[in-house]
Amino acid sequence: MIYKLSAKSRVVIKFGGSSVRDSFSEALGLVQKFYEGNEVVIVLSALKGVTDLLLKLAESKSPEILGEFEEIHLRAIEKLGIELNIENEIKELKFVLGNEEMFPSREAYIDHVLSFGERLSVKLFSKALEDEGIRSAPVDAFYLIETNGNFGNAEVDLKKTKEKIWTIEKLLKTGRVPVVTGFLGNFNGLRTTLGRGGSDYTASVLGYLLNARAVLIMSDVKGIYTADPRIVKNARIIPFISYDEALIASRLGMKALHERTIEPIKDRVPLILGKTSEWKLGTLVSDISFKMPIITYKIFRDTAKIGVIGTSCVDVEYSIAERGDGYVCFLVDRNELEEALNEIHEVVLNESLSTSNDSELWARV
Ligand code: ASP
Ligand code: MG
Repeated sequence: MIYKLSAKSRVVIKFGGSSVRDSFSEALGLVQKFYEGNEVVIVLSALKGVTDLLLKLAESKSPEILGEFEEIHLRAIEKLGIELNIENEIKELKFVLGNEEMFPSREAYIDHVLSFGERLSVKLFSKALEDEGIRSAPVDAFYLIETNGNFGNAEVDLKKTKEKIWTIEKLLKTGRVPVVTGFLGNFNGLRTTLGRGGSDYTASVLGYLLNARAVLIMSDVKGIYTADPRIVKNARIIPFISYDEALIASRLGMKALHERTIEPIKDRVPLILGKTSEWKLGTLVSDISFKMPIITYKIFRDTAKIGVIGTSCVDVEYSIAERGDGYVCFLVDRNELEEALNEIHEVVLNESLSTSNDSELWARV
């Protein structure tokens, strides 16, 4: 991997929840490498499993779950060998749990509870960076990212957020690495969240507003595959994919990126996906396309919708649910999803391999 880009560049690096929990040292090492020649902004998810735990906590207000939440972070602090006091956050969380009626709606209350996952992970990471000799500052996106009032799935107001981006610029100018909470925002002084997996979206918003050279999305998978590799064994990594393909695929259910990630950076800032534990980059999202198909899915109760991006003509028996420019969707029973994904993947990949050979051939005549 190349860390020193041609001139001093700005890079936004987002680490997913499993990176912060299981590959912390690799993540720190990667930041260190980039920091040597560039301005680096970090965006973090909550530690793996923590957002689910907080959802349960918001629902149940159970002291045991609160204890578990605290324990996870105390253990992480101990493992990292850093000194960090999280008492204030725990106190605030207890207060919020006991005062739901203070909030204008249940959704606003839940978003405030969810915020503690990212608020603690950035403190941990920033402190660990400082201990490695890299000057850093945790940033709570509540003070940076302005959103609409759609609690639980809020959309970022780019104009309003732009007015506050100087706070990050200032940290960069003084040689510090801002570590920003992903997933979180602010609507009229209330905490909002950007939808599950929303840290990707935070990273792309910052990449755009800071005019970054690239946005890196680092997680426990290498990049974007032709299909979900956990279900489709023959799925292949796609090294180059266009903004448009990534945009449609993420809307149709591709798990690798939150569905609004591409919007702010489309045609402006390239996005790279990679695996933290191996420092391996797998996919570049830019205006270059390898024209490989992508198969996605979304599950509804008893049915599932399978999306095929990169071709609109697929020779299978399933009923077509929707067809658009460069994509087609099929409706299948929930219990035939795995089989259908594998079958469609097989058909589409074979077809695409032969047609791309054809066009390559004709291009040379
Ligand atoms: N922590 C949030 C989630 O689990 C946001 C994210 O990870 O991007 O959905
Ligand atoms: Mg994700």
